[in-house]
Amino acid sequence: MAKRPHIVAVPYPAQGHVKPLLSLSYKLAAHGIKVTFVNTKMIHERVISSLLDDDKEALEQSGIKLESVDDGLEGEKNPFDAEIFTQAIRRMMPTQLRDLIERINICNKDEQVTCVIADATLGWILEVAEIFGVEKVGFLPFGPAGLAMFITCIPKLIEDGIMDSITGSIPENEQIRISKDIPSWSNRDLMWTSPGDEKLQKVFFECCLTVKETAENVDLLLCNTFYELDIFASNLIPKMMPIGPLQIERNSPSSGNFWVEDTSCLSWLDSQLPASVIYVSFGSTGVFNQEQFNELALGLELSRKPFLWVVREGINLNYPEGFIENVTHRGKIVHWAPQRRVLGHPAIGCFLSHCGWNSIMEGLISGVPFLCWPYFADQWHNQKYICDIWKCGLRVNCDENGIRSRHEINMKIQKLFSDSIMKVNALKLKDLAEESVSKGGSSYMNLDKFINHIKY
Ligand code: UDP
Repeated sequence: MAKRPHIVAVPYPAQGHVKPLLSLSYKLAAHGIKVTFVNTKMIHERVISSLLDDDKEALEQSGIKLESVDDGLEGEKNPFDAEIFTQAIRRMMPTQLRDLIERINICNKDEQVTCVIADATLGWILEVAEIFGVEKVGFLPFGPAGLAMFITCIPKLIEDGIMDSITGSIPENEQIRISKDIPSWSNRDLMWTSPGDEKLQKVFFECCLTVKETAENVDLLLCNTFYELDIFASNLIPKMMPIGPLQIERNSPSSGNFWVEDTSCLSWLDSQLPASVIYVSFGSTGVFNQEQFNELALGLELSRKPFLWVVREGINLNYPEGFIENVTHRGKIVHWAPQRRVLGHPAIGCFLSHCGWNSIMEGLISGVPFLCWPYFADQWHNQKYICDIWKCGLRVNCDENGIRSRHEINMKIQKLFSDSIMKVNALKLKDLAEESVSKGGSSYMNLDKFINHIKY
């Protein structure tokens, strides 16, 4: 009889990476695969302390084991310097992971590690899989288009002198196009572009180059998308296996949070009319200045619609005078929401989103149209998919000072709510997403193929 497979899953230490890989781990564990899920120490502690009782139970029943490795930042004065952080995890994680796998293999002779799944941004960690001679699998937590572009364009653009080889910048008037069916990239749309912060941009560009190398070196690349959503980009990536959307079940365990979910918003949503509420969330990294924060609050107030707004704790901004009193009967503010469950609630009418990839997947499987508010990374390019390709959302545009004004916000809210086409398109995408993960669908079959590959 074949030995029980044992996967070690290693996400990048950020919210939008930990949650989808943990969702995948639940699916694998449900098929009898043993999973050890490895966070850095700091993230491990945050995840553990944010678990709700239900999540603890789900985790226990799943058999997934949460482990941690040192991120090498202990005693570091400025742990949030992206360059120091990246160097530290690059230095520490492979040796730490090797020691962990060695310990696991000694203690569990019958359940030795048979596969490592690494976030594609940490592809170098798969050198550890090579040491143990086990399967090397990458996990892509963003859409396939970005990677398709890295693979097909970056070397040539650098060779032709169009792309800067250190920062990855291209001239302002340049557009990168890989197919007529895939939106082009201007400099702003590039995943690593960080205006005004060249050091950060270099770190992000290196990270994207790692993703490219990972895709070229892995045995398989799992991606949180479904094939029908972007056939053109998926076809450009050789070992690509789309297996998403991963959070398809509205009530699937939501562990992996860095903050404690405030579930009181679910009963608040129960008291709202169907398709009436604007859900406002900018993921785990969105930051605002006071002026933009005010405009958003006042735009929501002007809309006269009910809203549920996630304002992360410690953001240190003040609401405009009178705002809280004025919206008290139709606004709910939480520090962290059970987002998948919120989006699947019938009261949600639209999603004002930063267009992070997980948020997009969660919005699509809920059939909710988007108001797009990108600011960073792949979000600008994701916006193009939502508005121009899938046609299930509208842009909230910046004015000449880079601010999204209260009037623009209100105008787009009214427009979206009165436009039935966006909703129809969103529901079509929901059906497609559901089909892909249902028996016989593309993501279902890919996951099945992967599981069988790992098992036998
Ligand atoms: N999320 C959540 N509660 C919130 C806000 C976000 O659970 O109040 C989750 C969301 O469901 C998603 C993840 O955090 O799974 C954010 O990932 P995304 O790729 O959308 O954005 P990022 O945080 O990486 O920018």
